[in-house]
Amino acid sequence: MRMVLLGAPGSGKGTQAKILAGEKNVPHISTGDMLREAVAAGSRFGLQAKSIMDAGNLVSDEIMLGIIAERLAQADASDGFILDGFPRTKQQALDLDDLLDQLGVPLDMAILMDLDFEILMKRLTGRRTCSKTGKLLNIYFSSQDELDECTNSGGELIHREDDNEETIANRLAVYRKNTEPVVEFYRGRDKLRSVDAEGTIDDIYQRLLSTLLQ
Ligand code: AMP
Repeated sequence: MRMVLLGAPGSGKGTQAKILAGEKNVPHISTGDMLREAVAAGSRFGLQAKSIMDAGNLVSDEIMLGIIAERLAQADASDGFILDGFPRTKQQALDLDDLLDQLGVPLDMAILMDLDFEILMKRLTGRRTCSKTGKLLNIYFSSQDELDECTNSGGELIHREDDNEETIANRLAVYRKNTEPVVEFYRGRDKLRSVDAEGTIDDIYQRLLSTLLQ
């Protein structure tokens, strides 16, 4: 399975990609996670990436191509992968096509996680990660029991730095301008499928699975 998960920030693509990758036994490749690791490692590149990410802007296509080319060349990606957060511009989509051509492995499909703008805002502003378990939670959508389970076990509910309202507004604007053309790119190549991304994680996952079978 070689696929790209597309969707606005907050559409839940990271959550679904993680579950699907675990079940299908292919790597979940999230460029956002890779960049956050570089930031945490404190390299010079990490510092540059941090200021771009904190503003909700995009790291350059050239740098992203280098990162993704290196990652897809690793052995664990040879039998498939789920890309999350890449491609994010039409240029990145063209670069990915070239890269996969060189590797001789075509992309099977791109799946769009489709969600209403208002719900996206709540998902993003309410998003938290439990510092103890790494579990993704949301102050608007998770049950009080789930939130308490984290804090009672000594965990903290961590708010991602780029999940503040100003950055979120910019990330959504950047998505509309740069990433919606990627959706059209895959639609034009007849590779696009769409999943209704509203509801519980389980419901959405079941819809995703049935979309894969279509
Ligand atoms: P994400 O976790 O996918 O929402 O990504 C967080 C941030 O990392 C984005 O807002 C961008 O600043 C940066 N980023 C992640 N993936 C890409 C990409 N493919 N191209 C450019 N910037 C990216």
